[in-house]
Amino acid sequence: MSVEQSARSAASSLPRSVRVREVGPRDGFQNEPEVIATADKLRLIELLLASGIERLELTSFVRPDVIPQLADAAELLDSVRRPEGRDCSFSVLVPNPRGLERALQHLPNFDEISVFLSASETHNRHNVNRSIAESLAGLEKTINDARAAGLRCEGVIATSFGCPYEGRVEPERVFEIAAALVEFGCVEIGFGDTTGMANPLQVGGFYRAAFERFGGAEIELTAHFHNTRGQGLANVLAALGAGVCSFESSFGELGGCPVPAGSTGNVASEDLVSMLHEMGIETGIDLDALLVASRAVEATLGRRLGAHLLRAGPVEWQHR
Ligand code: ZN
Repeated sequence: MSVEQSARSAASSLPRSVRVREVGPRDGFQNEPEVIATADKLRLIELLLASGIERLELTSFVRPDVIPQLADAAELLDSVRRPEGRDCSFSVLVPNPRGLERALQHLPNFDEISVFLSASETHNRHNVNRSIAESLAGLEKTINDARAAGLRCEGVIATSFGCPYEGRVEPERVFEIAAALVEFGCVEIGFGDTTGMANPLQVGGFYRAAFERFGGAEIELTAHFHNTRGQGLANVLAALGAGVCSFESSFGELGGCPVPAGSTGNVASEDLVSMLHEMGIETGIDLDALLVASRAVEATLGRRLGAHLLRAGPVEWQHR
């Protein structure tokens, strides 16, 4: 087999197109030290939408005194404009029934909610000061109310691949939580590698098992990787190999989880899109236009961001 033939046969087992949800305006802006002005957020969201992005997590209805970075959720939702002439799905992260109540006042300006909890008790306590059972009980009501309002629901499970406090997290435990969320009405489950502990072999095995468990139920299984230890894209490739067609990422490599201290960030959207396109996998996103948005957020924040493409630019196969 020639090198090209073997590359083609490897590619044939990967999906031909994937869905990318940009989470920078929520996951990114929430975890940055500064509060970005609403007008700047709206301008950056417009640039993101101009790249063809079809899924966008816009904000979250969390307590403004706890997360001032997202205190403008209502104003942002009221001001954001949908791109003309194409479908685009806006999502809002909702922590509890109270957050949903506030969000619902801004329909029809968003289409989906995501709810979240952790797969490890200690991380869940640190994050939301509740046990997993208490979180699930609250989320059941949130998901029910959201569905009654016609919203699509994603359940995000943090620390799905490992916990900074407890270490290993058994996939079976993660799948039990996922099954509960599906029973409540989630049609998408996002598995989060919150502190970047996952490795590609683990990710491949995890998603193959997840598809065995949920594949028949038409549940979208999404990968939310953090590049904390530089393994984000390797984990993406492993997830693709296991059949994952849905990813969450953040422009500029913004965001992430502040445990361990100072660490970043989500997989960078531009690095992800570049790798996918180079492998012949479609995203519907114009990489050059996405880089315009990434350079703009870098300029807004006034410091270098982690995305490799921001420094290197797209791959050029012909010298201009
Ligand atoms: Zn994240």
